[in-house]
Amino acid sequence: MTEVKKGRILSGMRPTGKLHLGHLSVVESWAAQQNDYECFYFIADWHALTTQFDDTSAIREAGRQMTIDWLAAGLDPEKSPIFRQSDIKTHAELYLLFSMMTPLSWLERVPTYKDQVRQFGEQGKDITTHGFLGYPLLMAVDILIYLADYVPVGEDQLPHLEFAREMVRRFNYLYNCDVLKEPQALLAKIKMLPGVDNRKMSKSYNNYISITAEPEEIKERCIQMITDPARIRKTDLGHPDICTVYAYHGFYNAEEQPDIACRCKAGEIGCFACKARLQQKLNEFIAPIRERRRQLEENPARIDEILAAGAEVAKKESEKTMEAVRGVMKI
Ligand code: SF4
Repeated sequence: MTEVKKGRILSGMRPTGKLHLGHLSVVESWAAQQNDYECFYFIADWHALTTQFDDTSAIREAGRQMTIDWLAAGLDPEKSPIFRQSDIKTHAELYLLFSMMTPLSWLERVPTYKDQVRQFGEQGKDITTHGFLGYPLLMAVDILIYLADYVPVGEDQLPHLEFAREMVRRFNYLYNCDVLKEPQALLAKIKMLPGVDNRKMSKSYNNYISITAEPEEIKERCIQMITDPARIRKTDLGHPDICTVYAYHGFYNAEEQPDIACRCKAGEIGCFACKARLQQKLNEFIAPIRERRRQLEENPARIDEILAAGAEVAKKESEKTMEAVRGVMKI
């Protein structure tokens, strides 16, 4: 009997290389969706060019490393095609056709545009290019070309999704058709893990733990974690709610977290012992992922096969949409 799925999901990430624990909750939620939805996962390597156009040397390998981590974290290529955006040239074709009908003002008003231009400008990099301005349009193409029903997003990404939905309405209206489909948001209820310094976990802050970290790296990162600054001695009464180590216990040692809170507040546990326990729990959590990654790395040809097979499916599906698009546009 054919399995009935709840609809099609499209998700992707810019190729950042090996993933950190902050990404893991996202990939785990993708992995959980594979049984209920028809899922497509892609490496957004053309998106990387919007800010890395002047040094492209690391993009391809970063995409490959990210794929290995996706697989180690539970994505199943037998269930969900995994592919590189740049292998599917129809994305570029639809992007070009869309660019002819997208009002410039729609792109300029995307909230992240000005912020990012300013942030990169402060680092001495000018990203005021056609490509960077068109970033939300390329994102819309990635979704619409597969006629995705849902896109897992955080609240901050809702404007991008709304942009894609507006493109659908504009296209279908201009060509008096219903070729494109408005995707819905699948609002992700993902609790974000902080970096070891309690800021957002990010490679640029160097405050991350990789999902395949070796025990030595885990130890070092636990030592760096910010605790309650008022605690000098074990007997000082602590405030676990302002402690990064405590937040991590919530993710990786939930069963002991309430007891840790009581003992910290009562001055019955020292931060050294508390970090050592976290280190142990993180090791237990990461060890199987590390092992799966090691096995995947032993067979590099398998990764190429997975990406090639994913690209085949993506090409076929996107070509169906493009035939309909070319048809209604009479082009
Ligand atoms: S005992 Fe644990 S929870 Fe309390 S401040 Fe130290 S590290 Fe944080």
